[in-house]
Amino acid sequence: MGIKINEIPTEGLTLELARNVDLFDQGRSATTFTAALSIRPVGGGVFHFTGSLQATAEIECSRCLTRFPQVVVAEINFNLAPAKVINEEAEHELERAELDTEFYQGEEIDPDAIIKEQILLALPMVPLHSPDCKGLCPVCGTDRNLAECGCETEGWGKAGAFSVLRDIFRK
Ligand SMILES: [Zn+2]
Ligand SMILES: [Zn+2]
Repeated sequence: MGIKINEIPTEGLTLELARNVDLFDQGRSATTFTAALSIRPVGGGVFHFTGSLQATAEIECSRCLTRFPQVVVAEINFNLAPAKVINEEAEHELERAELDTEFYQGEEIDPDAIIKEQILLALPMVPLHSPDCKGLCPVCGTDRNLAECGCETEGWGKAGAFSVLRDIFRK
């Protein structure tokens, strides 16, 4: 549900959110989050967002592809500016603040979309369901956390670059 920007009071407002979001647009809201969000107008249609969020995101292990819950805790501190032309005052404020700037379009701000973006930014680049995940066998695809397939993977050892590439292509 959006917040109309012309209804945000000059002293700002604070939101307490506790919701489920569909983090990867998979048709199910598998990620739960709570967030305390403070929105303060700084002029020229720019809003300063501060606060914190905690989420449990269901993501995929980059080695064995198991789905697992990843806890994410993040501080929120950025400016939200209109995607359209911003005036000089606002531009000055953005430069002075030296904060990350996100952009919005139209007359409404969607806090859920904003939190979703922040959760995605806070997720690990290479998620692992466990730090010592053994991954899938490069030969037969067996999950080596569950079973020893006994495949000869000597030759694959020196092809480390290959497995890195494979990880990239999975993304
Ligand atoms: Zn794993
Ligand atoms: Zn195997």
